[in-house]
Amino acid sequence: MTRVREGRRHSSVQPTPDRAGGTAARGARRPVSCLAAAALVAGPAVSGAQPAYHRHLLFDNSLTPERYYHSAGRFVAPSRLVLDRGRLPVDATVARTPPNALRLEWTSAPGGSWEASVHVNQWRNREPVFLGDALSFWCYSREPLRAVHLPHLRLRDASGASSAAVDLSRVAPDIPAGRWTQIELPLSAFAAPASGSFDPHRIATLTVLQGASDGTPHTLLVDEVKVDGGGAPAAAPAAPRALEAMAYERHVDLRWAAGAGGEPQRYVVYRSFDGVRYEPIGVQEPSVTRYADFLGEPGRRAFYKVTASDRAYRESPFSPVAEATTRQLDDEGLLRMVQEASFRYYWEGAHPVSGMALENIPGDPRIVAAGASGFGIMALVVGVERGFVARDEGARRLLRIVEFLERADRFHGAWPHFLDGATGKVIPVFGQYDNGGDLVETAFLVQGLLTARQYFTRDDDVERRIVRAITALWRGVEWDWYRKRPDGRYLYWHWSPDYAWHINHKLIGFNETLIAYVLAIASPTHAVPAELYYSGWASQSDEAAEYRQGWGGTREGDRYANGTTYHGITLDVGVGRGGPLFFTHYSYLGLDPRAVRDRYTSHFENNRNIARINRAYVVEHPGGYESYGERCWGLTASDGPRGYRAHEPRLALDDGTMTPTGALASFPYLPDASMAALKYFYRELGDRLWGVYGFRDAFNLTEDWVALIYMGLNQAPITVMIENHRSGLPWKLFMANPEIQPALERIARGV
Ligand code: CA
Repeated sequence: MTRVREGRRHSSVQPTPDRAGGTAARGARRPVSCLAAAALVAGPAVSGAQPAYHRHLLFDNSLTPERYYHSAGRFVAPSRLVLDRGRLPVDATVARTPPNALRLEWTSAPGGSWEASVHVNQWRNREPVFLGDALSFWCYSREPLRAVHLPHLRLRDASGASSAAVDLSRVAPDIPAGRWTQIELPLSAFAAPASGSFDPHRIATLTVLQGASDGTPHTLLVDEVKVDGGGAPAAAPAAPRALEAMAYERHVDLRWAAGAGGEPQRYVVYRSFDGVRYEPIGVQEPSVTRYADFLGEPGRRAFYKVTASDRAYRESPFSPVAEATTRQLDDEGLLRMVQEASFRYYWEGAHPVSGMALENIPGDPRIVAAGASGFGIMALVVGVERGFVARDEGARRLLRIVEFLERADRFHGAWPHFLDGATGKVIPVFGQYDNGGDLVETAFLVQGLLTARQYFTRDDDVERRIVRAITALWRGVEWDWYRKRPDGRYLYWHWSPDYAWHINHKLIGFNETLIAYVLAIASPTHAVPAELYYSGWASQSDEAAEYRQGWGGTREGDRYANGTTYHGITLDVGVGRGGPLFFTHYSYLGLDPRAVRDRYTSHFENNRNIARINRAYVVEHPGGYESYGERCWGLTASDGPRGYRAHEPRLALDDGTMTPTGALASFPYLPDASMAALKYFYRELGDRLWGVYGFRDAFNLTEDWVALIYMGLNQAPITVMIENHRSGLPWKLFMANPEIQPALERIARGV
């Protein structure tokens, strides 16, 4: 999410949470707590695509097998705590839920101390309140461990307030050897300190600390830390049905249907290599009836079965068995595999009412995003064309989206960035001033709609309705309103019915906002003059130069044109080394860069050079980051160890976080280098990166961090730009809209 928003703060305007970034990055450096707080006040919960799994779980498994990223520890001798690079070790030998648990290995000695903390993984838009009235976790010890030797436990909430420590020796049972034992404590046991408040439903950190000092080493495995409450349901869950296994080159996709009955809290996946001995390998949250098992090599035959497990961890009988054998894939097969998995984010992961795309998964299941949905609509076109889903299913889904957009909040025809996926009401995630139209998100959405308008053209009721509705929606966007004044020289990002132009963010390139200018110039009803391309997007004004310097950290390219040579490659247009790669993706999913020329450059060549510079920078790896190289490149905006940032090829904005969509959405520009990256991400890193929606959002091997989430802005560009590389279909469709070509001609003529 976005927000490239901010160039620099304009001194005349009071900074808002929306403007706090200081780089051009979409949402760069936005504190997660802002998002969470905004989501909280946004209104009552609605049922979303994801049920309450993440409203309960503090820890179930570590994505990384050695140490748990969201943990920390320290000790003072003579006490001792075993840490792995400062974090808690992960143990895969015994787990309450597969594949792993946390290992607490301590010695409590008089005069010493130790403490180990597990932090709640604060991914973007995580709903910040845990539901339930008890904290529970499972413990396992190879030796009998008497309660008197158990440590103490303290919680910290999201505001930083800590509870008093609870002495587990007083409330927990003895832990028998070799058996998982659940410890459950009422949240009321975690009292607020004498002064101040503490909210146990907003847990941010759980800390285990030295208790009785017996001077003896103990090891306790800890798993399934959660907030819950209520007894077990009467009936055990029913067995999952219709298990299917589909093999690819190095992984197997499993899919099943929920059984009828019971209240599954998770699915447990079992694998066997001989069809006889099965072992549990992973869990899945109950809203997702799919699992990706990365086997690591072709020619591997595996058998699977799945159970459903309830609140009391009672498991259903097994599903039927399914088997599959991985097989070598050629390049086309790999491309199709990646396209389909990324498409699934928008198909299976869509909001259940509106069909729109969620901002990220997992995330806040209420919030749908306009821009990501536009990208998702283009992925839907590809999905139908490639046979991932049937055409009539795809058309019906699109009709649902279009009908939602007809009734959703609009502001002079522009949709907001974020909407409640059930009601269509604006959700001002970025703060109070962002409760109106967002022209850039609207442009991404309209780009998708116009692409689909040229595809769903069959003479049947559904497709006729789609075309009519899209045309009306497109004609309803008042692009000219977003000039602020009738003679305005720029387009503006936001307008709010309550705060008007308060955010005051002009659209100035080179960045991802090009498509807003192209569509505004092309509009059949509310067009702006083509001059705005040059007075706004490519503005030569001092004000625009200052804006570009603000987020670029350089004067190179601050007048739109650049001309500097980086890594032996001369860049016509762009700030610094060209910025994050999404600048060359979002506007060009439908808009064919080969057809865009202005006074300064040919966009295809320029975009390709931005990709080449991005890659050359990574190959020279000035940060010395792990994994960087010819096969691992593509700096762009994504989640990272410290939240969402627009990573780009300069040291100040490169922290070692690599984002698969960077290279994979660059297939049209650098097909060989993108294919090398695809193979590296999949073959070398697939064990931690590959999941049910393809590649996870990002990773940082230097910090041993992998994103749990997938992002709506990052998955579809992979599907769509690979298709532009393979067949050019999205480009052909969007460019077939009769309004587009004349607008581009006026721009190319220099007006
Ligand atoms: Ca586990």
